[in-house]
Amino acid sequence: MALFRGVVFLDGSSVSLPRSALSLNLPAMAKSKTKRAKGKKHHAAVEPMLEFGDRWDYAPAPESTPVPLKKRYPLYIGGKFVAAKSGRVFRSINPASGKKLTDIAAGGPEDVDRAVKAARKALAGPWGKMPAAERGKFLYRIARMVQERSRELAILETMDGGKPIKESRDVDLPLVAAHFFYHAGWADKLEYAFPGRKPKAIGVCGQVIPWNFPLMMAAWKLAPALACGNTVVLKPAETTSVTALHLAEIIADSGLPDGVVNIVTGKGSAGAAIVDHPDVDKVAFTGSTRVGKQIAAAAATSGKRLTLELGGKAANILFDDAPLDQAVEGIINGIYFNQGHVCCAGSRLLVQESVYDKVMRKLSDRIKTLRVGDPLDKNTDIGAINSKAQLQRIRELVDCGVAEGARLHQSKCKLPSEGYWFKPSFFTGVTASHRIAREEIFGPVLSVMTFRTPEEAIERANNTCYGLSAGVWTDKGSKIHKVAAELKAGVIWANTYNKFDPASPFGGYKESGFGREGGLQGLAAYVDIS
Ligand code: NDP
Repeated sequence: MALFRGVVFLDGSSVSLPRSALSLNLPAMAKSKTKRAKGKKHHAAVEPMLEFGDRWDYAPAPESTPVPLKKRYPLYIGGKFVAAKSGRVFRSINPASGKKLTDIAAGGPEDVDRAVKAARKALAGPWGKMPAAERGKFLYRIARMVQERSRELAILETMDGGKPIKESRDVDLPLVAAHFFYHAGWADKLEYAFPGRKPKAIGVCGQVIPWNFPLMMAAWKLAPALACGNTVVLKPAETTSVTALHLAEIIADSGLPDGVVNIVTGKGSAGAAIVDHPDVDKVAFTGSTRVGKQIAAAAATSGKRLTLELGGKAANILFDDAPLDQAVEGIINGIYFNQGHVCCAGSRLLVQESVYDKVMRKLSDRIKTLRVGDPLDKNTDIGAINSKAQLQRIRELVDCGVAEGARLHQSKCKLPSEGYWFKPSFFTGVTASHRIAREEIFGPVLSVMTFRTPEEAIERANNTCYGLSAGVWTDKGSKIHKVAAELKAGVIWANTYNKFDPASPFGGYKESGFGREGGLQGLAAYVDIS
């Protein structure tokens, strides 16, 4: 029977194609066929280029309907929305347009002090005396209210931070609710979590969070702290404070006793004031390794409990026996998810030499399909860079990569004329000494290196000051176990990447910090079992 070589379209029509055209992309086929008919030489060994990108326009998603923002967002202290003592505000910018979204109260040390006092008072009040099962009910209630308002929160998260709506809607918000649900279940089972011990709340927790997953980081910090009976003073990042203050509305509406959660927006100095406050019992920080080190130094002399979740430079290791198409999806997700603003991003790709050319070709083709642009468009894959400062930092490191001799590959996609954007990019010809192989770029930029043996892959992967995460791609289960056991990383994904679950502890080694968030280990960071 003659084999049909062609394309069957979804409407049932079909077209026969010469064998050489079968690996082409559809829009390009007609052109290449004409050229060949005119007698142009065709190199069978060279796969033709795929063309994607700007060919299709999609209808907007319901999520693209804007949500009204308040003109000014106050602090949330002692169950009340209040202005900063100084009366000062700072501007919050939409990174997709570079334009002002709203004004946010610029809290300072005196506001932090008010918040810590409110948190201390709540501990001594109804919250401290509340039966654990009742505590759990508040967490369940907050989780459900987050779900009810998830469309609004996802849109705000995208407007404020620049991440694609499909990520804030399908990843961030479900995980925010999941964290509250998960920890709600633990609230009255702490004796089972720590058998034979008498787990008690630590006290007032100071929490400082970054801008890459604003609401999710707030949930990761608040949920375990509340489940264990603590009270909190939380400082969101300056560029992404809006959703934390909408979460404050939910918290207020949930009926949580006043002062249990306090949110102080402001600059880094407000974070430092929380860390330095003498009546804060525990500090939890997620952010840069630079600030993490300062906080560790401050906490070392104060006796405060501390957990740090800092930077990363994860190796995503691709062996030649891996399912390559699946692995390429994992590489794309690993580095371009959330514009690469991810502490556990798979920012160093280690490819086994024997499949290097093939993988690079597949990766280039896949990158061409990524849609960069309006974060509120449901089809956008890569949104805006979170801030002008972060864009400058990405550019500086990319320029450095070029100057140091690595080869830059970039998508040809068009970028919007306003706002902060960076094309999805990758570097080849990277050596371990290049800055782009050592430092966190925190943008959509991948550094590709090669290896020959599993031992070399492990050595290269561990050759970093960080140790937050890693990925392993191979068909062999035994290889996964061997490699994973020798990688110095807190989280290791096998044949997948960027999978999160509230039951699964997350955290790092070395300069990626210490302590875990999520799971039993995450709870341990919020109880006193001494
Ligand atoms: P920072 O570490 O400065 O910011 C994280 C949080 O800490 C923010 O809320 C920030 O406030 C606050 N902060 C700043 N200084 C202090 C201080 N001295 N004491 C207490 N809190 C403080 O990160 P950046 O925003 O400056 O980002 C720089 C780089 O850090 C990125 O390029 C990336 O490489 C890395 N990073 C890593 C993250 C991670 O998840 N591991 C998250 C964010 C950044 P404010 O926003 O007002 O400055």
